[in-house]
Amino acid sequence: MVLEIVKYGHPALRERGEKIRQIDQTVRALAADMLETMRDAQGVGLAAQQVGRALQLFVVDVGEVEDRPSTLEIGGQLVSLEAHMPMVLINTEVQPLGEPETGPEGCLSFPEIYADITRPRQVQVQALNEEGDPVRFCCGGLLARAIQHEHDHTRGILFIDRMPRSVKTELQAELDALHAATKASLRPR
Ligand code: ZN
Repeated sequence: MVLEIVKYGHPALRERGEKIRQIDQTVRALAADMLETMRDAQGVGLAAQQVGRALQLFVVDVGEVEDRPSTLEIGGQLVSLEAHMPMVLINTEVQPLGEPETGPEGCLSFPEIYADITRPRQVQVQALNEEGDPVRFCCGGLLARAIQHEHDHTRGILFIDRMPRSVKTELQAELDALHAATKASLRPR
């Protein structure tokens, strides 16, 4: 089922996600709906907050992106990206590795707003998958960027919080308009 993606101004986007204690059929069904919603919106990542749920759960799929490469290492070995996409990641911890890198970013909760964001080029990730099994890997490139962006969402952090002040100032009118439109749509009629 395709879910509604909430936009900037919706309070769920600022909620810190709760840890998921039991990975059951309900969690798997939500993850499956989130994957469907992400694909429908042609995104590479989606966090539970973006469908109005304050949980430490997100999905990513960068397998089809050809112009922005990703790397994936498990147990120190480079592995095939395609074989591990999509990913459902639960209760994720992210450790930065490598130098900061600046690259373009967008967000399904901020339609048509893009900016260059600086983040560590590589990260080490520890999480649970949808079966409740622990996963641990290192990744780089677009996958590392997507995971950091989605992990931020699960902590109530948005990409606008990572923008240099000058960039945010340039976008401020657009951001204010989106925020106001979302708030207006939430008011009871
Ligand atoms: Zn986002």
